[in-house]
Amino acid sequence: MTTRSIEVVVPPREPHYVGDGFRVHNFIPGGYRLDMKRMDPFIMLDYNSKFYFPPTDTPRGVSVHPHRGFETVTIAYHGKVAHHDSSGGGGVIAEGDVQWMTAASGILHKEYHEENFSKAGGDFQMVQLWVNLPAKDKMSTPKYQAITNDAMAKYTLAHNAGTIEVIAGEYENLKGSASTFTPLYLMNAKLNKGGKAAFDFPAHFNTGLLVIEGSVKVNGEETVPTNHFVLFENDGTSFNIEASENAVVLILSGEPLNEPIAAHGPFVMNTHQEIIQAMQDFHGGKFGHLED
Ligand code: MN
Repeated sequence: MTTRSIEVVVPPREPHYVGDGFRVHNFIPGGYRLDMKRMDPFIMLDYNSKFYFPPTDTPRGVSVHPHRGFETVTIAYHGKVAHHDSSGGGGVIAEGDVQWMTAASGILHKEYHEENFSKAGGDFQMVQLWVNLPAKDKMSTPKYQAITNDAMAKYTLAHNAGTIEVIAGEYENLKGSASTFTPLYLMNAKLNKGGKAAFDFPAHFNTGLLVIEGSVKVNGEETVPTNHFVLFENDGTSFNIEASENAVVLILSGEPLNEPIAAHGPFVMNTHQEIIQAMQDFHGGKFGHLED
């Protein structure tokens, strides 16, 4: 095991709204070297840091829109999101849950705050990640994986340090339930004050973490506050975090696809021609139908 160094600690950018329901700091693709290639296969990361939405009878969110060529992973920390899609699917992503949606050849969906959450108002905190698909799988059949918190693999750390919730990949041989097209790790470290956890991923896997709650000291050297992202170098395999206070940290690491990226809004393909095709298919109704 060799130590993986911190490349840069990235502060949250000014938030912007996606629709009227998601007040996000965009980390990827963004500044601080975080273009769509640097964290390949993670090509987009929007983070709604904890934010209070007042009660409303009209749920806030994003109306009908398409996706093609990748997967969207929604991780709910506070609040609830309801989603509906053009294949007739739908559901609620509640606190602690993860929705892994393979858009692949294309879906239409809408994402709104869940009705009762909207009526009551409350804190809302969520991550949406886009995981790119390899060229050979971009036009595969869309699917969902709903990973509820009670069904999530949880590793209990020694010395009352806390828990690792494994979404994808594995931690100390405990496997997460998400099936992925390429090798990657995604997990939440929920640490008690003073709790420590170590992670070991292949050096060429692009690796980062986002501090969701509290603050952590990384590799015993740098304290990283809430809502900051750590981009790691590819110079070693292992790093550790120690909670300076009770903390929740999202850990992500994936094998880069190293394929060309042609991106246009909600379509991420390999060539410009495939983007043109996606737009034609979308306008031609080939993504199905969904009412606003
Ligand atoms: Mn979407």
